[in-house]
Amino acid sequence: MTKYAVGFGSNLGNRLEHIQAAVSKMSGFGEVVATSSLYESAPVGGPEQDPYLNAVVVLQTDLIAEDLLGALQSIESERGRERRARWGPRTLDLDILVSEGPTIDTPDLSIPHSASGERRFVLEPLVEVWPEVIVSGGMTATGALATVGGQDVELLAVKWAQRGDRHAGRYWVAGQLIWFLATGVAMAFDGSLPGNDPDPSRLIGGLLILIGSVLAYTSMRRLGPGRTVLPEPIPGGFLVETGSYSHVRHPMYGGVSLLLTGTALVLDSIAGVVLGIGLFGFFWLKSGYEERQLRIAYPGYAAYRRRVPRRFIPFVL
Ligand code: ATP
Ligand code: CA
Ligand code: CA
Repeated sequence: MTKYAVGFGSNLGNRLEHIQAAVSKMSGFGEVVATSSLYESAPVGGPEQDPYLNAVVVLQTDLIAEDLLGALQSIESERGRERRARWGPRTLDLDILVSEGPTIDTPDLSIPHSASGERRFVLEPLVEVWPEVIVSGGMTATGALATVGGQDVELLAVKWAQRGDRHAGRYWVAGQLIWFLATGVAMAFDGSLPGNDPDPSRLIGGLLILIGSVLAYTSMRRLGPGRTVLPEPIPGGFLVETGSYSHVRHPMYGGVSLLLTGTALVLDSIAGVVLGIGLFGFFWLKSGYEERQLRIAYPGYAAYRRRVPRRFIPFVL
């Protein structure tokens, strides 16, 4: 048995599905003993193209390196890999990065992979699963990672290799319901209905309710069939970038938070206001989770996020 690290890259089609399929195929000729987190990286070299999903696994197998390369190349072909432009977009790229076997340097195969010591999208995941292995350039993976520049690589998921690995969404929804409930209870105990001559703070609350309702309602309409209570994209869905979504990435969260904070102000409930403002913080974390799921599903999400930097309230937050 020999240990190899294999690197995955995909930026065409259903990127996660290509990589998950490769992991499952590899179990047919070896044992996957470690799996890194899933990353998204900006393309390096080659033509203009979408960002990549990347990951690394450690595979233990009886195959010699040449046969492993052959096996990996046939998985690439099964996933529709076509070789056109050098470093062009691809459904699936499988590279043998390193092994515990002898160094190989032939025209068809180099181990360590000749660029393994220079690429952050290789080293970040490799360090998770095999930090002390020697990469190209003669350093350990950890040492090499410290020398590579600030290439654009972001962690999207820790557990991803099997379908159904990602289900944290329901906990976020449960947390949100509890938050709403607590805010309602707080306002019921701590608030009071406005009299005939309301304070300015109650009037501001009314204004927030108005803005929040418009934002929440218009974005709910705009999202149409893509709506879901779970902070995860639905199969067959698509990215909505128009209407309020051209100003903020999560108008519904902004609208609901404004609505709740406004209601607490109208009812003059201090605890309600604290929880209403706190809801922005809760949604900040929830939308962080949600955006990682959206980035996995939609290669265009990273660019959308750069184009629309605000999350909740147009021009403000
Ligand atoms: P890069 O090698 O810079 O990551 P690439 O992955 O886009 O580029 P490919 O077109 O996938 O390049 O592969 C070109 C050739 O690289 C393959 O035909 C293969 O023979 C060779 N090769 C050499 N060493 C390795 C290795 N360690 N793993 C995979 N392929 C390798
Ligand atoms: Ca490659
Ligand atoms: Ca390759």
